[in-house]
Amino acid sequence: MTTIATNLQRIHARIENACRVAGRHPESVSLLAVSKTFGADAVAQAHAAGQTAFGENYIQEAVEKITALAQLSLQWHCIGPIQSNKSRLVAEHFDWVHTVDRLKIAQRLSEQRPANLAPLQVCIQVNVDAGLNKSGIAPNNALKLAQAVAKLPGLRLRGLMCIPEPAPDFIACCAVFTRVRALFDHMNSAGMSLDTLSMGMSADLEAAIAGGSTMVRVGSAIFGKRS
Ligand SMILES: *Cc1c(COP(=O)(O)O)cnc(C)c1O
Repeated sequence: MTTIATNLQRIHARIENACRVAGRHPESVSLLAVSKTFGADAVAQAHAAGQTAFGENYIQEAVEKITALAQLSLQWHCIGPIQSNKSRLVAEHFDWVHTVDRLKIAQRLSEQRPANLAPLQVCIQVNVDAGLNKSGIAPNNALKLAQAVAKLPGLRLRGLMCIPEPAPDFIACCAVFTRVRALFDHMNSAGMSLDTLSMGMSADLEAAIAGGSTMVRVGSAIFGKRS
């Protein structure tokens, strides 16, 4: 078995274990393999081991891989910051985008999504711990943005995404994820129908699952250290 296949098995075991501890069904959490900085060959290896959903941060790099691997049936998620001048590439090449944090970007994605493609699946990125210089909308403004995004054609609003600052311990980590889960519940009780909480990475997926994550984004624990 390749290293990538072994690592994928380990991650699935971690997800299953975290679900068991949290009293959740293992199928309630999906795995997004974050392949940024790794080549199309690494993605193809992960696909051969059964992985179909991949996350990318850098748009140009991603489009090259998406094009090179077009014959495989893969699902591509944009998880990096989106500058206005890159929104068209995102709208034309990706299936999901996790990093919508302002209406202007959502409007551009909506206008630029080709009519022959399925709606772009969207998560709103929330700046849950008010990290300075960090992308993500303030939690207080998330509902208003979600209501506006939900009306845009070509997009389908699915949920929330966050990238918390590293917390000192497991409990503190869980507390941050639980706040995002509470926001998600609040938005659903205000009439949204969100089903996706994109949170948790290689180092903190157990805390994220305890906090209610439905999609963990794992890079280095699958593909190795990034240079
Ligand atoms: C790189 C990245 C990940 C994966 O991080 P690892 O620690 O390598 O698992 C997840 N989410 C986002 C937004 C990232 O940029």
